[in-house]
Amino acid sequence: MKKLLILGSGSGGTMVAAKMRKLLAESEWDITIIDRDPIHHYQPGWLFVPFGIYTMKDCVKPKSDFIPKGVNFVLDTIVNIDPAAKVVTTKQGKYDYDYMVISTGCRIMPDEIEGMSEGWRKNIFDFYTPDGAKALCPQMHNFKKGRMVFNIAEMPIKCPVAPLEFVYMADWFFTKMGVRKDIEIELVTPLTGAFTKAVAAEVLGKLCDDKNIKVVPNFVLDSVDSENKVISDVMGNELDYDMLVSIPPNFGQQVIEDSGLGDAMMYIPTDNATLKAEQMENVYVLGDTTNVPTSKAGSVAHFECDIVCANLFAEIEGHEPHHHFDGHSNCFIVTGFDKASLIDFNYTVEPLPGKFPLPGVGPFDLLGESRMNYYGKLMFRWIYFNLMMKGHELPFEPDMYMAGKLDVRKAKKD
Ligand SMILES: Cc1cc2nc3c(=O)[nH]c(=O)nc-3n(C[C@H](O)[C@H](O)[C@H](O)COP(=O)(O)OP(=O)(O)OC[C@H]3O[C@@H](n4cnc5c(N)ncnc54)[C@H](O)[C@@H]3O)c2cc1C
Repeated sequence: MKKLLILGSGSGGTMVAAKMRKLLAESEWDITIIDRDPIHHYQPGWLFVPFGIYTMKDCVKPKSDFIPKGVNFVLDTIVNIDPAAKVVTTKQGKYDYDYMVISTGCRIMPDEIEGMSEGWRKNIFDFYTPDGAKALCPQMHNFKKGRMVFNIAEMPIKCPVAPLEFVYMADWFFTKMGVRKDIEIELVTPLTGAFTKAVAAEVLGKLCDDKNIKVVPNFVLDSVDSENKVISDVMGNELDYDMLVSIPPNFGQQVIEDSGLGDAMMYIPTDNATLKAEQMENVYVLGDTTNVPTSKAGSVAHFECDIVCANLFAEIEGHEPHHHFDGHSNCFIVTGFDKASLIDFNYTVEPLPGKFPLPGVGPFDLLGESRMNYYGKLMFRWIYFNLMMKGHELPFEPDMYMAGKLDVRKAKKD
């Protein structure tokens, strides 16, 4: 019996397990997936928890609901990966493999910033963990006056649009609570503007202006003084806050570092096109674990899953892994007041305005605000739990297409 081992049964690993089980005969291939957490978290839902729109219960289901028939699930913590011996060690056992897929995700590391741990969950909050999102909810409800500073410590982070969504929603939330006039909202970011890509940065930055959200760019966080409620950047600039909502540095998992497989931020060097691990034989990587230069997002893990499975299957059949990932990512961006925007882009094409998924028709607006986009965002949870994680195919190809997009950069030049 040959063995396929999948590390991590979050978004990426779960989808790979379902797809590979359909491709590989059960009589020839044993598929095992290992995860330390019995609960599957719908992470995009964490954004809504601080505002009381979702509770944490809305964002979780047992992992066992999503483990495909014919796949072994091991509930255990992975402590070492030895690609030379093709053996993975967990707290309770050892697993050898012929091929392996790694999708262990990434995590926040507040300890990386001097002074952050001292104020953690006292006057510094996050929504990138279930506990963080839960703890932030009463804080948001009790905050009636002062400066709410939202800080991204450094890039990359998962779901790079989530900070913008948070500040747009905070504007809506405090307006609804009748206290917006007494609250300043600031987005303090290491980026040069509201977002990374020029066209989207302009559109999304203007939305910040319209909502009276101040954007402080080029602020690379150095330290936090939670006693005096001050953050400082590497140039010595200081900003004070009353409540700090923070995205601390995002790193790959500890086991990646302990196994000597990561870069400086514990992400696995991965071929941008084939998604094969660069320094390991018979190993593919997807989702937040990779160092590929696109967003760390569930949508990306979904598109990558198609490429990983096609290449893995090709290799098993004795062919070259010739399927290429183009960096495709898309994401709804909640903008408050029951509206949202949407971006769709890849390694080379930045988010552009237009219609999606049907060119000229939509129903979703790219880089435009609409109620339909917001419904799309809300619908996504159902699609995630009932289709994506259950291994059903969605009618989307992994490659991004230009049809329906208006290349405003080209239009400006012409
Ligand atoms: C607040 C927030 C909002 C988001 N919004 C969106 C959105 O709107 N759209 C979107 O597309 N994406 C969004 N994302 C990002 C998306 O959730 C992630 O990119 C996606 O889950 C990545 O999938 P993954 O498989 O790489 O990692 P994960 O889904 O995080 O899975 C990793 C798994 O590995 C397991 N694991 C890790 N280490 C070990 C170990 N040592 N031993 C055993 N198991 C281990 C974990 O338990 C986990 O189950 C959001 C994320 C956050 C935090």
